[in-house]
Amino acid sequence: IRKLEMEQSLEMDEFARLIGTFDREDLEYAGERARTVRKMHYGNKVYIRGLVELTSYCRCGCHYCGIGSAVKSAERYRLDADQVLSCCENGYQLGFRTFVIQGGEDPHYSDGMLTDMIRRIKDSHPDCAVTLSLGERSRESYEKLFEAGADRYLLRHETADEEHYSRLHPAVQTLKERKRCLCDLKDIGFQVGTGFMVGSPWQTAECLAKDMLFMKSLDPEMVGIGPFIPHHETLLGNEKPGNVDLTLFMLALTRLMLPKALIPATTALGTLDQNGREKGMLHGANVVMPNLSPMDVRKKYLLYDNKAFTGSEAAESLSSLRKSMNETGFRVVVDRGDHIGTSVKR
Ligand code: SAM
Repeated sequence: IRKLEMEQSLEMDEFARLIGTFDREDLEYAGERARTVRKMHYGNKVYIRGLVELTSYCRCGCHYCGIGSAVKSAERYRLDADQVLSCCENGYQLGFRTFVIQGGEDPHYSDGMLTDMIRRIKDSHPDCAVTLSLGERSRESYEKLFEAGADRYLLRHETADEEHYSRLHPAVQTLKERKRCLCDLKDIGFQVGTGFMVGSPWQTAECLAKDMLFMKSLDPEMVGIGPFIPHHETLLGNEKPGNVDLTLFMLALTRLMLPKALIPATTALGTLDQNGREKGMLHGANVVMPNLSPMDVRKKYLLYDNKAFTGSEAAESLSSLRKSMNETGFRVVVDRGDHIGTSVKR
């Protein structure tokens, strides 16, 4: 852990050994170092992002995901630009300065519809950042979205192990294409987020070591790491959920490897552990993404069973989030919360 902090990387076998054998003392030590490094770069600030779940239609069939095309019971909905704008307006009043537009891969949304939506958000709130998380698209499409004003893009690589990737996804979805998207997004100029689930079926310490090394080489501005949680109607519905301590350990190692990264304490972590968000902060996270979607669609964007969307997950409960963060030694701020190593040109 000390070597990782000093050199900001490890060899593959060192990562695998550390991840495969850590104990409570290692977790506490990594957490303490991650807190120190986070504090050095971001103080005790917690950045908030308002999450707008655009659509629950998805053409993909990821074997873990509750909105995958094969999940027959999933209720499908789409938001239009006016609805998204009104979520952002509500979020702005609550103190959000970043909006994350996330959804399944839904061909209904043409480049033109998305660029129009992005321009309208940026026109109404020029002091806000727009983050997209809409899956794999062509380079030309990403270029248009960037041109329209989108600042950031989240696309988890999910797992950097080819074999593991092919077990979690149908054959048409490949790790190579996922990486192509991430490279294009970086090259175009987005602040890019990637990441992975912890405890997905067949994941080994070696898979996680590969995730770390892939992220080191990509050098993303943001990293999303959350536990896998089964969804009863998917192929992996009977598998065990990921482990909270391993998730916290991976968050801490990521902070040590990428000291300036923006790292959320995810909703999935908050779903498995009622203090998950606070524990995430104590292990190096510095972002939370409360849900700003219209109330009636929140229960339709169910990526996994028992997904939290009330309480501190809800944007309306920001005051309770503020309070619990204060009690844990952190401070929710009204800020775009850009990556500190990136010069923002617009
Ligand atoms: N379609 C976009 C994409 O692929 O990036 C964004 C939406 S996708 C549902 C967002 C993330 O949810 C995925 O990157 C995945 O890691 C996570 N996710 C999906 N199913 C999950 C599950 N069962 N447990 C935990 N996380 C899950």
